[in-house]
Parts: sequence; structure tokens; C-alpha cells
Amino acid sequence: HVSTKPPPEPSPLRKAKFFQANMRILVTGGAGFIGSHLVDKLMQNEKNEVIVVDNYFTGSKDNLKQWIGHPRFELIRHDVTEPLLVEVDQIYHLACPASPIFYKYNPVKTIKTNVIGTLNMLGLAKRVGARILLTSTSEVYGDPLVHPQTEDYWGNVNPIGVRSCYDEGKRVAETLMFDYHRQHGIEIRIARIFNTYGPRMNIDDGRVVSNFIAQAIRDEPLTVQLPGTQTRSFCYVSDMVDGLIRLMEGNNTGPINIGNPGEFTMTELAETVKEPDLGIFSTNLTDMKVVLQMINPNVKIITVDNTPDDPRQRKPNITKANELLGWEPKIKLRDGIPLMEEDFRKRLEIPRKK
Ligand code: NAD
Ligand code: UDP
Ligand code: UDP
Repeated sequence: HVSTKPPPEPSPLRKAKFFQANMRILVTGGAGFIGSHLVDKLMQNEKNEVIVVDNYFTGSKDNLKQWIGHPRFELIRHDVTEPLLVEVDQIYHLACPASPIFYKYNPVKTIKTNVIGTLNMLGLAKRVGARILLTSTSEVYGDPLVHPQTEDYWGNVNPIGVRSCYDEGKRVAETLMFDYHRQHGIEIRIARIFNTYGPRMNIDDGRVVSNFIAQAIRDEPLTVQLPGTQTRSFCYVSDMVDGLIRLMEGNNTGPINIGNPGEFTMTELAETVKEPDLGIFSTNLTDMKVVLQMINPNVKIITVDNTPDDPRQRKPNITKANELLGWEPKIKLRDGIPLMEEDFRKRLEIPRKK
């Protein structure tokens, strides 16, 4: 039995008590990079009341400072691996470190966050009748043998590697979502997020776009991890948030890929700094080149060792997001990277040279 009930109407008491807000939304991991941008967008709607739950492992209160004290906003220090009792209509479940160096730091904790954390949020969704969205990942495809990746591809994941706490953790989280849906009629949504970039990324979290921008600003060499031929596709955070909200509000459980299909190799990404006119790359890459050139045309490129099980290629097929959600990414690297540079310069306190 699968329920198709809409989320419950808020009670008159709640409407009266909470400033006419008629949707109370929980965002787990809301102090993180994507979560805080999601909160910004949700708070723009005066009908929403937002509760953030975060343990501040990789997130920070600073990302939410504009909302602290706001009558429609609440911030709770809490670890999702512990049970949580709140009354909400929707749950965006993002809590989980996303960068390899952070999720590998305490792999057992990463698994607990993905498995026990998702179980708790599903138990909560079941008790209060809330709709729940999980931010899964392109990592569920592992080192993919199908390219570009479609949602019906089952993936190629090492179950015992150093990335498995994250990849397999998210795969179990997806399984739990579908089992609660089938067994208890919970309304679920699953987004498979591909590499995302933008302001508020952790400066030293080791991800490639944040590394290259911080290195270019600090006048340090760009570190291309070997072999350099591996590919990724990068989506600007406001496009990502727009896709997540469309998925939550729409009628499809997913899983649905959300990401930018513009694909390039890590060597190409780094060389953008040195040779802006190679002219052989995609529009996105050309944009990236022009922009990195502007950050620092003299920066050096070095190669460094890679980590085990690094996927060799990654690019989303976004047909489903396009057809079912009417979504496609809008922000070009040319526009997104300068916004990130500005944010990084502020936080690093290194102004642009005149
Ligand atoms: P992030 O690390 O900036 O944010 C994660 C947030 O979750 C942080 O604020 C962290 O403190 C919090 N958190 C971690 N463990 C927790 C726990 N046990 N209890 C409570 N809070 C906890 O990462 P992000 O880039 O904003 O990613 C958000 C979500 O999107 C994650 O679920 C991630 O797996 C997914 N995702 C991100 C990307 C990407 O490129 N950024 C790609 C694929 C999937
Ligand atoms: N849970 C929670 N908040 C709630 C309801 C449940 O954190 O409001 C947790 C609960 O502690 C349990 C998990 O969610 O560990 C799964 O709950 P469910 O009711 O599905 O299973 P059960 O409690 O029967 O094991
Ligand atoms: N990478 C790189 N230099 C860096 C950081 C990462 O070449 O300084 C590469 C890494 O080997 C991977 C890609 O960039 O192939 C994306 O890595 P990231 O950690 O950003 O995200 P992932 O997609 O691996 O989760």
C-alpha cells in the first residue's frame, strides 16, 4: 500500500501561533554549504517557517547569521544519529559531510550519519506525516561504466574501499527511503546531486574548485591529482537549490539527477589558468578558463598523487530533471566563479590586486 496523501494541513493553532506560517520545514545539515543556501531560499517565502538541525561538523553558524533571531527561524545543535522530536511538514535531509577529506576523517561516523541519521529522519517523517527529501549523490554510481549517468544505472561501487562509508552509506540511505515509502507510505524524494560549487564552500575542504580558486588567490600552484584525465561537471549552488525545491514540491519520488552536464578533465580545468585560448573545450570550460585567468594568470600547475577509487568520469544525464521538474542549470561558470572568488577573497582577506 502506497499513500498518495498530500502533506497534512497545519492546525489552526499552529497557524495562529507561528506568524501565519503554513509550512514548517526542517533542514538537516542546514548550516553547511548547500543547506545554508537552501535555507536562504526557503526563508524568502513568508509562509515558511524553517528549523535547522546541525552538529557543526563541517557547517558553521556563520552561514546562517542573517537568520539568527528571525521569528520564522530556529537553529538547533543536534546530531541526526540521535532521535529528534519536532513537528514539521517537510524535511530536507542533507546532514552528512560531503567532501572526501571530511567524510574519510571518521568513516564509521559517516556511515552512522547516513544510516542511523536517515533512519531517524524517516521515523520522524512517519510519526508526523511529513514529506522527506534525501540529498543523495552521484557517488552512488561509483566509478561509472555508463556515461553519462542515467538514474536507472545501478553503479559500480567498491564496497570495502576508503570512499565506501560515503558511497555505500548513501546507497543504504536510498534503500531506507524506498523501504519506508513502500512499507509505511512515507512520501519521499531523492535527489542525486552532482559536484556543486559556490560561495560558502569550506576553503580548505580539498574539493577541486575550492582548491583551485584558493590556490590561485594565494598564489600557490594548482594541484592536479593524477592522472588528470578524470572528468567532472560542476553546478552552481543556486541552480542546485532551485532543483531541490522543485523536486520537493513536485510529484516524483526520484531518484533524479541534479547537476550540470558540462564536463571537463581536471588538467583542462587547471590549464584554463595558463592558456586561455586553447579553444578546444566546451563552452563551460572556456568560461572557466577566462575566469581563472582573471584570478591569476601566472599561477603554476603541479601534479600530485590521487586518492584510491577516484571515479574516472562523471557527467549527469539530466533528461528526467528536465522533463519531470522543468529544471536545467542556468548559471554559467563565467558568472558563478567570480561570485565564489569574491567570497573567498573576503574570507581569506586577500583583496584583488589593482
Ligand atoms: P557540507 O559538509 O557543507 O554540509 C553538511 C552539513 O551537515 C554540515 O553543516 C554538517 O555540520 C552537517 N552534519 C554532518 N553530519 C551531521 C550529523 N551527524 N548530524 C547533524 N548534522 C550533521 O556539505 P554540502 O556540500 O552542503 O552537502 C550537503 C548534502 O549534499 C550532503 O548530504 C551531501 O552528501 C550532498 N551532496 C553534496 C555534493 C556537493 O558537491 N556539495 C555532491 C553530492 C551530494
Ligand atoms: N524517530 C525519531 N523521531 C521521531 C520518531 C522516530 O528520531 O519523531 C527515530 C526513532 O528513535 C527510531 C527511528 O526514528 O530510531 C525509526 O523510527 P520508527 O518508528 O520507524 O521505528 P522504531 O522506533 O519502531 O524502530
Ligand atoms: N582534484 C584535483 N585537485 C585537487 C582536488 C581534487 O585534481 O586539488 C580532483 C580529484 O582527484 C577528483 C576531482 O578533482 O578527480 C574532483 O574531486 P572533488 O574532491 O572536488 O570531488 P569528488 O567528485 O571526488 O567528490
